Amino acid sequence: MTDPSKPMIESAGICPLCGRGNGCAGAAGRSHEGCWCAGEVFPQEIFERVPEEFIGKACICKECLDAFKRNGG
Ligand SMILES: [Zn+2]
Ligand SMILES: [Zn+2]
Repeated sequence: MTDPSKPMIESAGICPLCGRGNGCAGAAGRSHEGCWCAGEVFPQEIFERVPEEFIGKACICKECLDAFKRNGG
């Protein structure tokens, strides 16, 4: 029983790059201001790797962000 008119809220807690949990407070129904991602800088280039339907919906996880920064973007 899936309702196509509802947003894919379950996927909001999944990192769109690695498919693991992103630990996002917003996905857990809490304030996004307390989320770890609110205090991080996400390079624009990392969003180019995110499938369009996930942009603005699901957070990238810290592991992917760290790996991206380590590799110099
Ligand atoms: Zn990830
Ligand atoms: Zn978040």
